[in-house]
Amino acid sequence: MKSLAKTIAVLLLLIAIGTIVNTLTHPSRQLAVAGIPPMSLERDAIVPRLQRAIQLKTLSHDDNRLFDTQSFKDLHAHIFSSFPLIAQQLEVEVVNEMSLLFFWPGSDDSLNPVALLNHLDVVPVQSNTLDRWKAAPFSGDIIDDRIYGRGTLDVKSGAMASLEAIELLLAGGFQPRRSIYIALGHDEETGGAAGARAIVERLKQRNVELEFVLDEGGAIVTNAMPGISNKIAMIGVAEKGYTSLTLTVETASGHSSQPPKEMAIGILSRALVRIEDQPFPSRLSDPVRLNLEYLASELPAPLKWVATNLWLFKPIILAAFEGDPALGSQVKTTAAITLFNSGVKDNVLPTTAEATVNFRILPGETRHSVMARIVQVVDDERVKIDYLAGFESNPSPVSDYRGLGFQLIQKTVSETFNQQGAVVYSTPFLLMGGTDSRHYKSIAKNIYRFSPIDIQVAELPSIHGINESIRVQNYLDMVRFYHRFIGNLNQPFKPDAAISGAD
Ligand SMILES: [Zn+2]
Repeated sequence: MKSLAKTIAVLLLLIAIGTIVNTLTHPSRQLAVAGIPPMSLERDAIVPRLQRAIQLKTLSHDDNRLFDTQSFKDLHAHIFSSFPLIAQQLEVEVVNEMSLLFFWPGSDDSLNPVALLNHLDVVPVQSNTLDRWKAAPFSGDIIDDRIYGRGTLDVKSGAMASLEAIELLLAGGFQPRRSIYIALGHDEETGGAAGARAIVERLKQRNVELEFVLDEGGAIVTNAMPGISNKIAMIGVAEKGYTSLTLTVETASGHSSQPPKEMAIGILSRALVRIEDQPFPSRLSDPVRLNLEYLASELPAPLKWVATNLWLFKPIILAAFEGDPALGSQVKTTAAITLFNSGVKDNVLPTTAEATVNFRILPGETRHSVMARIVQVVDDERVKIDYLAGFESNPSPVSDYRGLGFQLIQKTVSETFNQQGAVVYSTPFLLMGGTDSRHYKSIAKNIYRFSPIDIQVAELPSIHGINESIRVQNYLDMVRFYHRFIGNLNQPFKPDAAISGAD
């Protein structure tokens, strides 16, 4: 007995030493790259061009026929007149009347091109929220050095800033080595079928293979991680999938004075309760594991010890994630019951009951594995389960954090935003929402989802919400980011030795 206790004590001691060694030897994944002095910009010309873009009501609608083609054409005209060198020197195509595709040929056609994506459409503003906006949502007005309006964050700022940067580079006689596509879709907010998907079909016909795509998605977020006060550039290396299932129960008709033991609404309700009671299992998918790995060495001591020993503390970390809906959605496929319909009158037994459940799918699973699990959980043949027609997507593949695109984003973030003593960290992460970039997976080796937007966690609800706005200074930094990023693309690429060993 004594020797068993001794053995256990020795084992525990070894585990403790092992975890501490892991913590002490965990390399930092952050780049030691200093900020470069900010390029001077003509604020008085650049800012009004974004304001004008905000004023044009390029709204997305679920019904394609409701798109106001003219407002998109007005935005195109504004772009062509704002950026005369782009209009003259780049090849431009208008796709399905409202999307734009620019091509900037590189000097070395042995290199795969890259694509910079943003979208021109914005979501509508709910009329009952108008009185809570500090400035009208399509005014582009500036209050306290912030530009207000739909698209200031999502994501006319990205479209206009990338074009500003290219115009400046053209004016300076810059010649890219790698060809660059600039793709500006018009229906991202409703799935991108007529914009991004049509653009990809064209590129596919021309056998274009992209080295990487840089689209919107993550941002530079303050207070993104407990224990870290530095801003963190969240670079999306994957996005969750999306599907909805309808559950239908059909029963014989009958009179409410003589009800059977089980009725349509009851049968369907029990199926839905089973879905609530048996959530999808939690796990650390690659992007979330990488997220922890990239930030582990920057955490304060006890958290650092936990995050550098995932092999031991994974259950604790998963439990911590699950305690919060936002974090929980990062570690599992979520199921949200969103619609329920049945019944016509208080004294008539309904013959049908129907519900819809919306799923956001974790990488590693598919729409089909979701269906298989729900059939098993419901376990009732009277409940018919079908895919809801309409928007759907499997989770994206996970892009390489050691690849050219990721490392260029990380480097350019440091060069642009490490100013006045600040150090911005970077990390791969899993995007909860969807972007136009999903359509590019068949023609792009890697897809990164990141905009150089500097935002507080508390401001995130203004995206698609009230008082969407951007600091003027941040918008100018976005121009600097894209300018530097395209410049960096011309540099020879050496994978960082420390990072390439990050597995
Ligand atoms: Zn967007």
